[in-house]
Amino acid sequence: MKIAFIGLGNMGGGMAANLVKAGHEVSAFDLSEEALATAGDNGCTTFTDAAEAVRGVEGVVTMLPNGAIVKSVYTDSVIGKAPEGAVLLDCSTIDVATAKEINAKAEAAGYDMVDAPVSGGIAAANGGTLTFMVGGTEKAFARAEEVLNAMGKAVIHAGDAGAGQTAKICNNMLLAISMIGTAEAMKMAEKLGLDPQKFYEISSQSSGYCWSLNAYTPLPGVGVESPADNGYQGGFATGLMLKDLKLAMEAAQTADASTPLGRHAKELYEQFAEDNAGLDFSAIIKSL
Ligand code: NAD
Repeated sequence: MKIAFIGLGNMGGGMAANLVKAGHEVSAFDLSEEALATAGDNGCTTFTDAAEAVRGVEGVVTMLPNGAIVKSVYTDSVIGKAPEGAVLLDCSTIDVATAKEINAKAEAAGYDMVDAPVSGGIAAANGGTLTFMVGGTEKAFARAEEVLNAMGKAVIHAGDAGAGQTAKICNNMLLAISMIGTAEAMKMAEKLGLDPQKFYEISSQSSGYCWSLNAYTPLPGVGVESPADNGYQGGFATGLMLKDLKLAMEAAQTADASTPLGRHAKELYEQFAEDNAGLDFSAIIKSL
């Protein structure tokens, strides 16, 4: 397929390269000259204007920082500029309301569109092993699937427009809560004189079993290898976790959902991010 890719940062750069590897013809645009040059080295055709990049394509993928930027890119440079009938895929993590609004505008203008945020970080983006959670009609999903398969290991249809973003923020709210809970329990065990490795061995095979403990142990030298063993570098940045928790709390308010632990997790990550936004989110254990 001929595909335009807009937003070639930490995540989008590797995703665009994987589309090229899968045999797609990729027209790339980013405001950053450096990101654009790397995309050129990876086999994309580069453009200095987004509206030019989407001309004549069958699909458009965006991987951008936030909802305001996604909205302006679709309004100014994609809808009405890409050929009618093209399939549009926004893979950014943005708020549910904006995702639904852009989808409605795109569908009204004759496009099929999905919100398709990802689970998995930069390594998964580079390796083509992302998980995509997708919101949109059956038809839009079927068209988007072929494009997403080239960039991920799992592509799941979550429901109608906005359902992908809903799945993403609910998942990450759960992750934040479970990481703080894991960190609290490990530190408390340690303070009570229990060897943290023994606690890991016991709890990871008991009812404390969870991803944060079993697959991402937040203490260095304990449990499985994780960013904790690398000074909390790499992995999923605290600043990005905070972004997702803010989106989750906004959505909870609009849905009148009760999320006391989600709210508290957001407050704790807010405090921790003041000086540690670049560290992996499991580093929150250092604040306990
Ligand atoms: P990033 O900041 O590295 O990349 C964003 C890119 O968008 C940059 O290259 C920037 O120049 C470009 N950009 C900004 N405004 C633009 C515009 N108007 N037109 C064209 N290009 C523009 O961010 P990232 O880490 O790649 O994250 C992208 C999205 O993926 C975010 O929504 C983030 O929440 C989500 N995400 C990131 C991770 C991660 O681990 N980094 C994991 C899951 C989801």
